[in-house]
Amino acid sequence: MSKQNEITEQELAKIREYTRKDVTADEIYTFSLIICDNETDRDNEKFTEDSLNKLAGMFVGKTGIFDHNMSAGGQTARIYSAAVEKDPSRKTSDGDDYICVKAKAYMMRTAANENLIAEIEGGIKKETSVGCSVRSIRCSICGNDIRTEKCGHRKGETYGSKKCSWLLCDPEDAYEWSFVAVPSQRNAGVIKSHKIEDKSKYPDWVEEFRQEMKQDIIKDGAGLLPFLGNSLLGDICDCLSLKKLREMRDALKEQRKKQLPLVSLLAAPAEETAADYSDYKI
Ligand SMILES: [Zn+2]
Repeated sequence: MSKQNEITEQELAKIREYTRKDVTADEIYTFSLIICDNETDRDNEKFTEDSLNKLAGMFVGKTGIFDHNMSAGGQTARIYSAAVEKDPSRKTSDGDDYICVKAKAYMMRTAANENLIAEIEGGIKKETSVGCSVRSIRCSICGNDIRTEKCGHRKGETYGSKKCSWLLCDPEDAYEWSFVAVPSQRNAGVIKSHKIEDKSKYPDWVEEFRQEMKQDIIKDGAGLLPFLGNSLLGDICDCLSLKKLREMRDALKEQRKKQLPLVSLLAAPAEETAADYSDYKI
């Protein structure tokens, strides 16, 4: 099979936080990938450096999914470390130094994952997509919060020599990633991020994401809304758009967080959770 990847003892210790304690390096495959960067996307939105720093921490421990072209489906990998990397030799389209969140992820070396591992090693690149929510969105020209303050600028338009974009600030939570595999020995290519709008353009993994959200809703719903029943909750989920599905999942998740003292510090104040455009699928 493919060549053995090198895993340090330190990395193995991190991975073992998520797996059996006695899992060996031979049983694990690790790879590097870029989960997000500060490049302006096609919607003229971008993460700030501060957001990327926070997101790097938030994505540790999160599982990601592969699209169907890369695998038989159902495979996941988990991020066990992530850090911001700067590349001053490369500039974003608006002239900033290029910054990205580079993560390391692992998956189990199983027969089912064999082809997928070979494809990752072969350097197949895909678009990365991350789902996260941000507390504020600022205009790149005046710095105003576009939700709470007046701003006369329109994103995508140029003012003087500066193009107006929306800066995604103060991330609150990272939900999931799905993804481009970048062999660790290679430098990353340009990763275009995108917002999902049209169902006909959805890649296959979206259906998996939908199912994942549905399971989350049923799981949290069972605790919060037991009188509805799993079957009815599932049927409701099937009628919802991805956006509404995410809103419902997040609302239930927030409620669950309030019930769980361990994570209550992460829960956002209730008044900040409702805004439509706080949820970003980049
Ligand atoms: Zn403005």
